[in-house]
Amino acid sequence: MSKVAIAKCNDYQDEKVYQAVKECFDLLGGLNKFVKKGMKVAIKPNLLMAKSPDGHATTHPSVIAAIGRQIIECGGAPLVVESPGGPYFVTYLKATYKACGMTAMSKKYNIPLNTDLSTIPKVIKTERNTRKITVLKPLLDCDLIINASKMKTHAMMIFTGAIKNMFGAIAGTEKAAYHINSSDYDKFANDLIDIFQVVVPTLNVMDGIIGMEGEGPSAGDPKQVGVIVASTNGFSLDSVVHDILLIDKEQSYILKNAKQRGISLDYEIVGCDLEEVIISDFKVPFQRKKGEVKGIFGKIMNNSKSKPVVIKNKCIGCEICKDNCPALCITMVDGKPNFDYDACIRCFCCQELCPESAIITKKPLLIKLLSGGR
Ligand code: SF4
Ligand code: SF4
Repeated sequence: MSKVAIAKCNDYQDEKVYQAVKECFDLLGGLNKFVKKGMKVAIKPNLLMAKSPDGHATTHPSVIAAIGRQIIECGGAPLVVESPGGPYFVTYLKATYKACGMTAMSKKYNIPLNTDLSTIPKVIKTERNTRKITVLKPLLDCDLIINASKMKTHAMMIFTGAIKNMFGAIAGTEKAAYHINSSDYDKFANDLIDIFQVVVPTLNVMDGIIGMEGEGPSAGDPKQVGVIVASTNGFSLDSVVHDILLIDKEQSYILKNAKQRGISLDYEIVGCDLEEVIISDFKVPFQRKKGEVKGIFGKIMNNSKSKPVVIKNKCIGCEICKDNCPALCITMVDGKPNFDYDACIRCFCCQELCPESAIITKKPLLIKLLSGGR
């Protein structure tokens, strides 16, 4: 049974966040149990896109500062390593660091940001298969990894937490190949589990002070949850967070598939009680409850997926969605994206990377009717 530490924290003031992260580390035995003098420690945030921390789509810089400062206090050398969504080159990476508040944080606390784009092949051997993946070399060059995810919904996977965050270990546009090769959601979830088992973080910390509900992972609404959560086990951490947010694990692709693979989702909470932090009205993307509708309509519902739709008056015609669509099924018509829904694999990369939150997910009409308009 893996320990999962929960510490309450209601805002992003650096010192408050530092104390909450420290409380979590102490509940897990102290950071110095893991970080020794002279160790290089990678911090892997969620910097999905170049967006201000106030958008709550990315790990807040105060959380990264709290982790980095404590690594330094243990005698370690932190390095922030990330491959955001979209292209992977130095100017884009630097622009993302800047927009996400990482550049200012780095200067204030002397926590360096990686700009080495080199990658390294790594063989995945799981109970499912053996194959080669390409991983960010600076991550693997470090002695250990601290995975610093953000508490958010996800249009495709329902929830993105510790496990999904390590998808950022794959360099830039190479991520698109995963979407194309694993357009089936269960298959994609299994890819994410495989990656997590190859690029294994020693510690997982989640920024759940202000999470994101609804149209996550980038176009949703901020939701005050008021917690930092940490564990050595990313599956247990995500499992606890599903229980905090009352998300059905059987409908959440990563945990459902992890359980089917025999990966334990059990946990022992240390710190505050689960009941103290439960959020009963957290909005998740459309979930079909098992057995909710039976027969042929039930089958239709289970196989149905939402589709991306553009809100034309919000779209600025930047073409980021078109340039990052793995299925190449977006064309620009009169300066706005036009979707070929027959070719669309419903990966929602377009929604994820739209800087204006101009793409939303829309349920098929039949599904709306069958699920009572929800
Ligand atoms: S929908 Fe978003 S990403 Fe696509 S062109 Fe419009 S603003 Fe850009
Ligand atoms: S249109 Fe959007 S959801 Fe469809 S394949 Fe392209 S990026 Fe994915």
